[in-house]
Amino acid sequence: MQTAPGPKDRNCGTCTLCCRLPDIDTLDKPANTWCRHCVASEGCTIYADRPELCRDFLCNWMKSSTLGPEWDPALAHMMFYEQGPQTTVLVDPDFSDTWRRAPYAGALAHMAAEAEASGGYLIVFVGDDVFKIEPAAAGLAAPDRRAPKPAAA
Ligand code: SF4
Ligand code: SF4
Repeated sequence: MQTAPGPKDRNCGTCTLCCRLPDIDTLDKPANTWCRHCVASEGCTIYADRPELCRDFLCNWMKSSTLGPEWDPALAHMMFYEQGPQTTVLVDPDFSDTWRRAPYAGALAHMAAEAEASGGYLIVFVGDDVFKIEPAAAGLAAPDRRAPKPAAA
């Protein structure tokens, strides 16, 4: 869905997770189904006329250079974004356990701790399953968010 530039070295590439994982009312699109305007390897077929919601959306990886390459949604098989106090993590159901593994599990717990410190929280959605991430205990070293890429699933 990306239009506005984020960190200089970032682009959506072949990722189309945000055209599949979220529910989008204005497009009458349920969660975890392809948008009818998205064509594999081509992307959005109504790019010039896509809804405002799509024009405005950038996932956190596209916006934050503090997130390392392992958080590229095309590699991580998950995407996340802020909704008020909630950080929403949408996981590709085809890779439903990826968020439970290193480096993601520890990093998500630390993100939850950071969110909690400012009154927020982290929720993971995997298909119909919903999980609240427990914040990492104080004193635990934060994992390197620029850790080497995990092996492809
Ligand atoms: S999830 Fe992020 S990287 Fe993937 S297409 Fe959407 S904005 Fe781009
Ligand atoms: S309209 Fe285009 S940008 Fe928006 S969800 Fe559908 S394919 Fe993606």
